[in-house]
Amino acid sequence: VVSLRGVTKRFGEHTALDQVDLDVAEGEVVVVIGPSGSGKSTLVRCVHQLEPIDGGAIHLDGELLGYEHHRGGLRPLPPRARAAQRRRIGMVFQQFNLFPHFTALRNVTEAPVRVHGRDRADTERAARELLERVGLGDRMGHYPRQLSGGQQQRVAIARALAVDPRVLLFDEPTSALDPELVEEVLGVLRGLARDGLTMVVVTHEMAFAREVADRIVFMEAGRILETGPPDRLFGSPSSARLRAFLARHT
Ligand code: ATP
Ligand code: MG
Repeated sequence: VVSLRGVTKRFGEHTALDQVDLDVAEGEVVVVIGPSGSGKSTLVRCVHQLEPIDGGAIHLDGELLGYEHHRGGLRPLPPRARAAQRRRIGMVFQQFNLFPHFTALRNVTEAPVRVHGRDRADTERAARELLERVGLGDRMGHYPRQLSGGQQQRVAIARALAVDPRVLLFDEPTSALDPELVEEVLGVLRGLARDGLTMVVVTHEMAFAREVADRIVFMEAGRILETGPPDRLFGSPSSARLRAFLARHT
């Protein structure tokens, strides 16, 4: 579904992503771990095209993201075409970024109706189902301030799902939550994984990573240092860096 080849991203002198190669297959759950500053957020932000990349290429279903071929070279896509590509990718952030003045239901229906031009009645029916799916069937009319952090994050997940994305990206979806609220959000992610959604999840929740991931990606200093199935990476990490990281985080 998603493929990265030689993706490089710099911030001034600093190389945040250094020649990253990564493929995410249909229905696969890839969990990205690594120390602070290793480039995890930058990776998902680049896939979501929140950041332009400085080298390499990202494809979604075989289509080059952000650029088009032009006279033997590449040129940036016009904003409309870029926006259309971005709509095929869902993203959930650490801070839920809900519209404070909209109800839970309206938060979920807003983008499909306004941005995608979908029928309001159909969208609302779908949104109700999504809110049921994340366990908020009884909170649809609540405003964000009337919801707990875990509930707000579940609304954000329903909102990301509402546009039928090809892939869902999560950047530390539970790290802004009180500990007792983490599990309800992880439970929703588990359900989505079971349902076969294609997901890339950045998280520090190692037990969750081990349980849900089809594949773990360990990043360090802008590179993928190790990748593989969770049992192998957690059970017999080959690099000293990963061993040290796991010793600190499990
Ligand atoms: P954390 O676990 O703390 O969230 P991370 O792995 O997500 O870390 P990134 O946020 O991707 O790390 O950052 C990678 C590197 O890029 C860091 O050194 C960071 O300081 C730098 N960086 C990220 N965004 C910017 C920016 N907008 N401007 C300058 N430097 C940036
Ligand atoms: Mg980050």
